[in-house]
Amino acid sequence: MEEILNHTIHEHLKNLREKKYSVKEYITACLQQAERYKDYFIFINLNAEKILKNAEESDQRYQKKENRSLEGIPVAIKDNICEEDEYVTCASKILQNFISPYSATVIKKLKEQGAVLFGRTNMDEFAMGSSTENSAFQITKNPLDPERVPGGSSGGSAAAVAAKITPTSLGSDTGGSIRQPAAFCGIYGLKPTYGRVSRYGLVAFASSLDQIGPFARTIDDIALIFSIIQGYDPKDSTSHPKSKELEVDPNPLPFNKNEIKKLKIGIYFPKEGEEGFDDIIIKTCNQFQYNLEKQGFRLEPIESSLWKYSIAIYYILATAEASSNLARYDGIRYGYRSQNAKNLLDVYIRSRTEGFGNEVKRRILLGTYVLSSGYYEAFYHKAQKARKKIREEYKEFFKTYDFILMPTTPTIPFKIGEKVNDPISMYKSDILTISTNLGGIPSLNIPLISEYSQFPVGIQIKSNHFEENKIFRLAKTFETFGWIKT
Ligand code: GLN
Repeated sequence: MEEILNHTIHEHLKNLREKKYSVKEYITACLQQAERYKDYFIFINLNAEKILKNAEESDQRYQKKENRSLEGIPVAIKDNICEEDEYVTCASKILQNFISPYSATVIKKLKEQGAVLFGRTNMDEFAMGSSTENSAFQITKNPLDPERVPGGSSGGSAAAVAAKITPTSLGSDTGGSIRQPAAFCGIYGLKPTYGRVSRYGLVAFASSLDQIGPFARTIDDIALIFSIIQGYDPKDSTSHPKSKELEVDPNPLPFNKNEIKKLKIGIYFPKEGEEGFDDIIIKTCNQFQYNLEKQGFRLEPIESSLWKYSIAIYYILATAEASSNLARYDGIRYGYRSQNAKNLLDVYIRSRTEGFGNEVKRRILLGTYVLSSGYYEAFYHKAQKARKKIREEYKEFFKTYDFILMPTTPTIPFKIGEKVNDPISMYKSDILTISTNLGGIPSLNIPLISEYSQFPVGIQIKSNHFEENKIFRLAKTFETFGWIKT
């Protein structure tokens, strides 16, 4: 049964319908694969009994020939997306014993389509980090090379798909947390347009930037999952009304020769010897540019004078929002409460001191500082203005270009422990992903095969707001050319 783990979702659905194997057989194979990867610490919670019970129920629906678009497909879920009656820890001690009383909209949608929810994946605490090393519980290893990090913060979700435990999973992306782990693990990962996927039931980190999105190994599978989870949701006040009308094609068509000639693509590829970039990334981009031009794509290098500020802008806005969002963990309402407190104030202080990890504390301190009276104008307000400029610049770019292509990360996956004591260098690894969130636009990581590297290299396809379908078509075109590791 092990070889069936290589199938795509579309193939599984066909096989399950034709009764080549049952959902229970398939899910059992997935659980065995999870067991083989036990030492990689991909899941925080994996309740095999419950998963098998759900698989049986799904088999019964197959018997009754009920037609659902994701019947029997296992989906691993990042541990910050609420699922009723499941632990939702956000990889934090402060929520270690928290069981969610309700489900996120995306979870409801997946279940309605017959998906089998498959465990809760490891992450950086409250999604703050780029390596999954900030988890309060464990360090996830990269299935491509266990000495290296899987990226973060959705490292567990990316690793589950890369290890072929599940064909797909959900993560969240505030500054790169879907695309960067997808790049490090050699798979697809989509950060959707802000407002296109409901955030209802996603534990908030920085609400104006957070989006939920899928991981998968083929573009058809990404498109299928996205078609299910996207859409307007009145329960999320930032859900965009436009999401009501838009449809997603779960089988995107590649662009033909004529269409390719008409497309205009802005490229932001590092130059020979550019500081901060690994040689592998630079050489792969060069080769990619050559291949694209040979196929008739029209490319133009683009420059932005603003992107270099994106890390600074992000660490003001994201921490400000986080300091406010995380104020609810006070040791009173839910979550961890210190046993040693002497009075009410002490309950707050000790519960938060003992419950939060160092990175989370660092962000709360920074966020509280930039919002404090006297500094608000200088930092927060100014960062808001700068963010608006980045958004406007993207709008300008997309008047001329259909797409922007750039690497997802400046380096290949780093070694476990390499950056833990150097937060600034860790923050810098997000230099290419953060401006996307500030602009609210969609961006997809694609795993490009590289002759310079044993593992695929992550490239981002960005496009204008709500243009996910167009992004999928370009990725499909690259897949058809045989450029993508699937
Ligand atoms: N790595 C970034 C951070 O640490 C982004 C995290 C995210 O997208 N959730 O904040």
